[in-house]
Amino acid sequence: MIPLVDLDKQYQSIKKDIDTAISNVITSKSFIQGPFASSFEHEFSQVHRTKNVICTANGTMAITVALEAAGIGRGDEVITTPHTFIATVEAILEVGAKPVFIDIDPHTYNLNPSLIESAITKNTKAILPVHIYGNPADMKSICKIAKKHHLIVIEDCAQAHLATIGNKFVGNFGQAGTFSFYPGKNLGAYGDAGAVITPHQRLASKIRMLIDHGRKDKYTHQIVGHNYRIDGLQAAILSAKLRHLQDWTTLRQQKADLYRRFLQGNHKIILPQSYPRARHVYHLFVIQVPHRNQLLDFLKGEGIAAGIHYPIPLHLQPALKHLGYHHGDFPVCEKISRHIISLPLYPEITPSEIKTICQKINKFLSK
Ligand SMILES: *Cc1c(COP(=O)(O)O)cnc(C)c1O
Repeated sequence: MIPLVDLDKQYQSIKKDIDTAISNVITSKSFIQGPFASSFEHEFSQVHRTKNVICTANGTMAITVALEAAGIGRGDEVITTPHTFIATVEAILEVGAKPVFIDIDPHTYNLNPSLIESAITKNTKAILPVHIYGNPADMKSICKIAKKHHLIVIEDCAQAHLATIGNKFVGNFGQAGTFSFYPGKNLGAYGDAGAVITPHQRLASKIRMLIDHGRKDKYTHQIVGHNYRIDGLQAAILSAKLRHLQDWTTLRQQKADLYRRFLQGNHKIILPQSYPRARHVYHLFVIQVPHRNQLLDFLKGEGIAAGIHYPIPLHLQPALKHLGYHHGDFPVCEKISRHIISLPLYPEITPSEIKTICQKINKFLSK
């Protein structure tokens, strides 16, 4: 059986460090924020070359609090992609703003910058691109449009730890970048966790206040905030794992190249594509194929767990019906949602497992 992700292999390779980290937290009793969170924030700021890192309870709250701190709320519109996990849009709705979808680029599956300007109204306040699958969005074009129209840019980097455009990490292009450390993400905690990064000191201070009950100090609540704090346990685990993130990312990229080698001769398959100068970190390795659902079933029968991210575009989700979108509104997104399949990819997957998967796919598609 080849799983879609394998967290056990990773744990076995770093078991001693993880077990020590957990026991250190329990002995010190710093269960909420505290020194383990501060250390991780400092380390993550060095690794991702950013000024401020504020850890949050999860990646969804990271987006919510970044929007809230940037002053986005009721009556405001936020332009985003229908091809993402629903959390992106839940965060926009959570602050009382309205998500406005535009279609995606047919090659990178990211927000199509050429469609942004036609979606701007007098209520537009922000653009929220998602670096989907770990593949950077076209930040140069997005930031240029944002600057022209005085819009805030918040990057959803939940799937894109260490992804770069040129020599700059994603999350550093807009006013803020948000991360998820959900267990299956490229850097994953052993529970929920997230973070916001921002070069702006004032935004960082506001976020710090908002995530901890609006506190200025222990007993003074300056504003009405939330409890969006990270656990000490998760922070300590993340510190232990962060040391390996660069190596794990390189392994993901090497394994992705291997998939390409075995699949590129097959003209029925569309392989992942990135913008020039963008460096994909392959949270997911997603290809387009004909007869996707049959292929998924076939692979399952062969002991290979593939997935679909995502089969239902957000504008067609029952929960978002009130936004008033319909079938046919975003044809690129709707088309690719019928053809995409995510293949097993994690740092520890072996070349022979990848070869087996590709042979089976090629055999299925030759029928
Ligand atoms: C995982 C994910 C989130 C939400 O992160 P959580 O930590 O699960 O709350 C947001 N956006 C995208 C694109 C994601 O993949």
